[in-house]
This record gives sequence, structure tokens and C-alpha cells, in this order.
Amino acid sequence: MTHRIYDTEPSCRAFDAVVTRAVEHEGRPAVILDRTAFYPTSGGQPFDTGRLDGVQVLETVDAGEDIVHVLSAPLAYGAAVRGQIDWARRFDHMQQHTGQHMLSAAFDRLFDNRTMSVHMGADAATIDLAKAAPAADVERAVDEANRVVWEDRPVAIRFASPEEAARLALRKEPLREGTLRLIDIDGFDLSACGGTHVDRTGAVGAIAALATERFRGGTRLTFVCGTRVVRHLRAYRDAVAGSVRALSVVPAELPAAVERLQADARDLRKIVKGQQEQLAGHEAARLLAAAQVGRVPRGADDPPPSGPATQIVIEALDGWDAPGLKAIATAATASARAVVVLVGKDALVVARSAGVSTDASAVLRQLTERFGGRGGGKPDLAQGGGLTAAPHEVASAARDILRSVRLESGF
Ligand SMILES: [Zn+2]
Repeated sequence: MTHRIYDTEPSCRAFDAVVTRAVEHEGRPAVILDRTAFYPTSGGQPFDTGRLDGVQVLETVDAGEDIVHVLSAPLAYGAAVRGQIDWARRFDHMQQHTGQHMLSAAFDRLFDNRTMSVHMGADAATIDLAKAAPAADVERAVDEANRVVWEDRPVAIRFASPEEAARLALRKEPLREGTLRLIDIDGFDLSACGGTHVDRTGAVGAIAALATERFRGGTRLTFVCGTRVVRHLRAYRDAVAGSVRALSVVPAELPAAVERLQADARDLRKIVKGQQEQLAGHEAARLLAAAQVGRVPRGADDPPPSGPATQIVIEALDGWDAPGLKAIATAATASARAVVVLVGKDALVVARSAGVSTDASAVLRQLTERFGGRGGGKPDLAQGGGLTAAPHEVASAARDILRSVRLESGF
């Protein structure tokens, strides 16, 4: 059974120990020590890393009675080792964890809003509150927690039997049986917790809320403490500075400036759309003028066309995107009796006028079966894309297909 130094001495960074077992953990070398200050992942707090002599401790795992140290290289049974914790990582976890207790206590005390679960990520931590937490509540809870941070109150570790604990005003019911380890933030919060904490609230530095979202009927609050507040402030400063330079406004004017830009972009899109439609109309007229009735090659044995003449427009149009091709095809089939196949760089549109029997979706299907890609539509208009051939190749195949369709239907 490993003696857990951090239970009573969370500020211990270096210690001497003996390897009591050399094992493997998920294919990596690992050891169990007679005593350790390495904290294993538990209660939402991530594991410690560091060194055992010259060997790196990559991960620390709680195995019930024992604590497993996963290593970069094996260590022998019986070896006496010096353990050294990566203190920057651990101190960061302590700041987040104590900050979390204070934030949870503030929500509990001010709004009777309980913390249901906690997660400490590498970038930010979250608490899941049972109830909704409007922005004003979040501001007040953060202010209250920071007030306690700046009063620099002592944070003590206490041990209590379940009977003693039952008489104490714990913030939440303890989950485990037997002797309880309690974290006592003087006059503010008392809760059962196995984690590592700073010894005075002042060491948390500051607490800042970053975001809230609705979560399981309550609220998930993302926050940072201590050194992370400074890190996030730097990141925000750089992002704001970049935006301020690009938009030539002061930071407070950023939201309004972005809204103006969005409105301008909307207006421009409207104008461009109108002009594209006009241009598509002209392009359709040009294509119809160039297309001749029966331009599709005809064999000597083909029957003569019957019924009203249908214009066939098959063109490779590299410069147009899918909506543009569709606009041209729609304009062409509306202004003349026509079958239109337009092939762009990554788009394909097949359309026919009302009263023409050619099935546009069947023509498209034949082309995608031959050249790959995807697409679909209705008998009068079908669209596709992702064909693997060059536009002129697809156009040429479309000519063959329409020629055989024409033979069958006799248009
Ligand atoms: Zn805790």
C-alpha cells in the first residue's frame, strides 16, 4: 500500500522512496513505491508528472491501494529513488482546484445552485451547476469567490469520521466511506475532497469565468484561475489587437464594427446575386443563339425529327459555379424549348423545358455512372458534381447520350 504524502503535505515537491514493485502499465514500464507525492488522476484533478531519479514519470494512476507511476524507462525492484514533481503543472492544478471549491461554494451560498460535477482540462476547467446561472449570477459568484481569494484565508486539511462529518456543514454529501479528508477554506467552504490545494486562498491569484452553456437542465461554466488568467488575457489581448488593427477601431467598438461589416457583406451579396442572374440571362441567350436545332450529330438512318423543334445546348463552362450554371440552365429552358447540359469545373447541371420528354436526372445519372461523382434531381432539373473527367470530356459524353435519347424519343 503506497503512503500518499500529498494527503497531508500537498506542498511536498521532492521525496525519497523505495521501489516496492516493478510492473507494467498498458505495455509501459511502471513502479509502485512505498511512499509518493505524485498525485494520480482523481476527483476531476489530473495526474502529476515529474522524475524518479533520471527516469521520467509520464503518468500517475490510482490503483486503489497502490499508486502506479508510469515511466519512460524501467526501474528495478528495491531501488532507492528521489522523486521530483513537475511543480509548475501541479501548482496550476492546485490553483484551479482550490479556485473551483471557492466558485462552487459561492454559487451554493449565493444562489443555492449546487455543483454536480467538475472537470479540469489542460486549458480551462468546468463546473456543471444544477440550475440555470444567468450572466448576473455568474458575475456575482465570481466576485464573491475573488473576494475570498484576496482575503488570503487559510486552507486547511482536516480528517473526520463519518459520524463527525455528519455533524459538520459539508457543501456536498461525501461519496466514500471511512475516514473523510476535508478541505476547509476558513469560514467559507468545507467539503470532502482528496485533491491537492494551495495553503492560502491568495495563492489562487484570481478567478475568471470564460463562458457558460446550458447543460443537462443546468449550466456548464468554464473558468480559469491563477496563471491561466494571465495566459488567457494574453491570448485575448493578441486577438483583440489583431482585430483592432484590421478594423481601425478601439476595442469597445469592435462588435459594432463587425456588425457593420456583416451588413455590408449582406448588401453586396444581394447586389452580386442580382447581377449574376442578369448575366446568367445573357449567357443563356448567347448559348441558345449559338445552338442550332438538331446540332446533336445525326446518323444516316436516324428518323427525321417530329413535333416542335428542341434546341440542344451542351457546353463546358469553366468559369461558373453550381448556382451560376443552374441560373443559366433555368433561364435557357424557360426562354426556349431546350435541353441544356452545362459542365463547370466541379459542377454539372442538366435541365429541360416543360413539354420536352428528356429525363434530366436520367442523363445526369448516366454521366455520374461513367465519370464518378454524385448528384440527383428531378426530370426537369438535375445537378451533380465531383465528376473525375475534364468538362469538355463530360460535355462530349453528354452529346452521345442525348443523341441516343433523341433517337429513342424522336424529338
Ligand atoms: Zn475538490
